[in-house]
Amino acid sequence: MVIEDEETPIGLTLDDTKPDGSKPCIMGFILARKCRKLCILTKEERKKMICDIYSKVLSTEEALHPCHYEEKNWCEEEYSGGCYTAYYPPGILTQFGRVLREPEGRLYFAGTETATEWSGYMEGAVQAGERAAREIMCAMGKITSNQIWKPEPESEDVPALPFVTTFWERNLPSVGGFLKLMRVSTVLSVVAVTSLIAYKKGLFPRT
Ligand SMILES: Cc1cc2nc3c(=O)[nH]c(=O)nc-3n(C[C@H](O)[C@H](O)[C@H](O)COP(=O)(O)OP(=O)(O)OC[C@H]3O[C@@H](n4cnc5c(N)ncnc54)[C@H](O)[C@@H]3O)c2cc1C
Repeated sequence: MVIEDEETPIGLTLDDTKPDGSKPCIMGFILARKCRKLCILTKEERKKMICDIYSKVLSTEEALHPCHYEEKNWCEEEYSGGCYTAYYPPGILTQFGRVLREPEGRLYFAGTETATEWSGYMEGAVQAGERAAREIMCAMGKITSNQIWKPEPESEDVPALPFVTTFWERNLPSVGGFLKLMRVSTVLSVVAVTSLIAYKKGLFPRT
């Protein structure tokens, strides 16, 4: 469920029932400014707000009486300081990207944020962890430097499927590209018309 309403605490809700059907549950995220607002309430107050909104969205009184309620404030996690990942504001990757994974002496960097794919997610964490482990093995002389970077094997459970796009999706310009095209074609038209007028008035030598 995606609930788009400034006054509603929960934005995104997912079915978190385990794959074998055990422990049925739903899990929602309270993000950014909404999280800061709710932090100052008590657990019971938050629970009531959340149940009220689920009851409304799911159109059922049952949501008002959950058999269990868990919550976690990730901002209070000493070593994470928030969630669900750290991301870089504009300019950081272009200025410091090349040193992001560089070891410092015997210190190697392995967080998901240093992954080249799925940065911020579990896949990225695994890729970064394995890469850092291979960097250490290389420093120990157990593998060569060209063995550090290995492409991840294709997932057997969830193989990547190609995106099917229409001709127009592939070829239409973006809004930015379209505006740029309009600017360039306007300038070219003005130059062409001005040149034509100048030519007709004999301002150009006719040789
Ligand atoms: C609420 C939430 C939901 C998420 N949902 C998803 C999802 O659905 N799918 C998905 O793919 N990813 C999800 N993620 C992201 C995913 O959990 C992370 O990308 C992943 O766990 C990062 O792994 P990591 O090894 O880079 O770092 P972490 O798992 O953060 O491990 C770093 C470890 O280092 C420890 N540490 C840090 N500093 C120190 C220190 N100075 N001394 C000792 N120990 C220290 C920390 O305590 C932590 O245990 C979610 C994250 C959160 C918080």
